Amino acid sequence: MVIVLKSNAQQKSIDSLMDFLRSLGLDIHVSQGDDVTILGLVGDTSRVDIDLLTALDIVKTVRRISEPYKDANRKFHPADTIIDIDGVKIGGGNFQIIAGPCSVESEEQMNFVAKSVKDAGAKLLRGGAFKPRTSPYAFQGLRENGLQLLTQAGQANGMPVVSEIMDIAQLPLFEDVQVLQVGARNMQNFELLKELGHTSKVILLKRGLANTLEELLMSAEYIMSGGNERIILCERGIRTISAVTRNTLDLSAVPLLKEMTHLPVIVDPSHATGLAGLVLPMSLAAAAAGADGLMIEVHNDPEHALCDGRQSLRPEAFAQLAKAVEQVLPFAYKREAEASL
Ligand code: PEP
Ligand code: MN
Repeated sequence: MVIVLKSNAQQKSIDSLMDFLRSLGLDIHVSQGDDVTILGLVGDTSRVDIDLLTALDIVKTVRRISEPYKDANRKFHPADTIIDIDGVKIGGGNFQIIAGPCSVESEEQMNFVAKSVKDAGAKLLRGGAFKPRTSPYAFQGLRENGLQLLTQAGQANGMPVVSEIMDIAQLPLFEDVQVLQVGARNMQNFELLKELGHTSKVILLKRGLANTLEELLMSAEYIMSGGNERIILCERGIRTISAVTRNTLDLSAVPLLKEMTHLPVIVDPSHATGLAGLVLPMSLAAAAAGADGLMIEVHNDPEHALCDGRQSLRPEAFAQLAKAVEQVLPFAYKREAEASL
């Protein structure tokens, strides 16, 4: 349920309304806009008398929210959420590119790739250290050592880093990692999501291979209901009958999600297509569709990469991509803010 307050509502009256709502066992999410204050109620609102609330002179309107996601809902928080990662902002008109190899392989590789993608304009560095591989015989990542190489390369180049966490027991190893990625395969690992809700890390939540947008937002809700609201959503392609691409990039997810939620939405065209040649056109399309950023796999020597070489760009191709995306951004689709709530 959402209570929209009148712009002249006195703080004293707002406080007593909030005390009353809390006494009904509800949590209140306050969204303070320029000219409107919204109280989002989370919990069992069946006992709330809408007529009584509407009759209060500080209340403009009261609406029930039918969607099962509340904290993540745009109706609770009409303004875009902007996430600040050690000074790098994403969302609300701030577009960022996360770039780096699928997997951390060596110190030389990380330092080279970090410097190249930074020079090309990426502000965040990625690198997997714990890899979710289909085969137990495939390279599983350098684990703790990989995280060290990633964070060193990030620090040396002044870039916050992004890496995938697969189990909450790994959390102490991620102390110097600014953004924890929850991969597609763990999007509905609810115990992991709950635990991440109790951390203060930024979470990059990827859409599952066969999950709806509502399911993605319910996973974000698991994290948010634990108190951590710093979440970036990522469309990374879904399973379809495509025989050529690794997945199918569902670009309609971008404007749809941005209507449904206030959280930033980025696109990963590398995993969505699986083919390096498709990463540039799909990046341009994602930027044009209104994405808040991109995550791109970049490798110094894709032919010999230990993971995902076919979809990895060389640094020069990445630099061209970053330039081309800049050209598209001024024409990108922007959702119209609701005229009135
Ligand atoms: C990755 O980003 O390296 C990865 C494994 O992605 P996804 O979970 O989307 O497959
Ligand atoms: Mn990968």
